[in-house]
Amino acid sequence: MKPATVAAQALGWIDEKTRGVSPPIHPSSTFIRDPDNLYRSGRSYSRADNPTYDQAEAVLASLENGAQAALFSSGMAAATAVFLSLAPGDHVLAPKAMYWLLRSWLMNFATHWGMKVEFVDMTELDAIKAAMRPRETKLIWTETPANPTWDITDLSAVAVIAHAAGARLAVDSTVGTPVFTRPLDLGADIVMHSATKYLNGHSDLIGGALVTRAGDEHWARIKSLRVQLGGVPGAFEAWLLLRGMRTLFPRVRTAAASAQIIAEHFSGHAQISHVLYPGLKSFPGHEVAARQMQGGFGGMLSVRVKGGEAAAIATAANVRIWKRATSIGGVESLMEHRASVEGPDTPCPSDLLRLSVGIEETSDLIDDLEAALKAVKS
Ligand SMILES: *Cc1c(COP(=O)(O)O)cnc(C)c1O
Repeated sequence: MKPATVAAQALGWIDEKTRGVSPPIHPSSTFIRDPDNLYRSGRSYSRADNPTYDQAEAVLASLENGAQAALFSSGMAAATAVFLSLAPGDHVLAPKAMYWLLRSWLMNFATHWGMKVEFVDMTELDAIKAAMRPRETKLIWTETPANPTWDITDLSAVAVIAHAAGARLAVDSTVGTPVFTRPLDLGADIVMHSATKYLNGHSDLIGGALVTRAGDEHWARIKSLRVQLGGVPGAFEAWLLLRGMRTLFPRVRTAAASAQIIAEHFSGHAQISHVLYPGLKSFPGHEVAARQMQGGFGGMLSVRVKGGEAAAIATAANVRIWKRATSIGGVESLMEHRASVEGPDTPCPSDLLRLSVGIEETSDLIDDLEAALKAVKS
């Protein structure tokens, strides 16, 4: 089965008891112990795992071509579990352009906890090589395309750099999605998703996931941390995610096709100084993206509005169809003045609007942004 078929049929599983095409939800937090004191079902308590996770994890492992997947209560719970599975004193590389709250967690909590965190430009292979400390660097974390400038990391090249130094490569592929990028096939060891975004796609749950290339000792530590930190999803969220993933391919393909048209439309617009989108030939990471992303460049783009922060905020104030809200990857298009969210130490330009393209009619989205820009000009 091709990945789109795997997703649409959620691996084709039929519920054994009811012959249902949709799986049941298992809300039970606890499971019966056998009279001889064993747990032959393999389950004892839902902080460790829950039957409702099984199918969603299997679908995700299949889509990412990984050995195993694990659901978490949020993308942040999934991402921080990867770092916390290391030891204080370990050196890690993280990108300068990345999801802002994880960067903030790395700068504050992780550093305080004893991790040596170094932020590098992940588009510069020489800078990455120079930052590696043999035996000390345990992890390269990257995000591609990276929030909110959509920098592209050359995953195959960075995997080689990581492995040469005995480090692992973990990739936040929330924006890439398994539709366009399969980091494990390119040499990464762990893939992370905010399942809140494209995987679920309907802006109605918070969830996260990790997928591993190998069920090794590092993965066992991550799984055991999930039990101990307790960042597991509820059964209903796991079920919703499985339901959302059934339409992953058509949603994401539609959004990406629309994003490409919108990016091309606003390139060279009199009131826009830059359009940041990996699908534009003029985009610095375009060549690498064209090589490692299959079939599209994703549904996320940013525009920088001439006239600076005030003009950007005024533009967002004037849209009607785009919704002014944080988050990404839903079926409805969202627009956000990103610097307002990220705070004073953000590397995000203050004139940048982040656009999460949904599945509406493309011309409605273009006309709405055109009208908002016109209202700002007059
Ligand atoms: C939203 C997001 C996260 C965090 O995920 P949550 O589910 O909100 O915890 C991490 N990385 C990226 C790229 C995101 O967009």
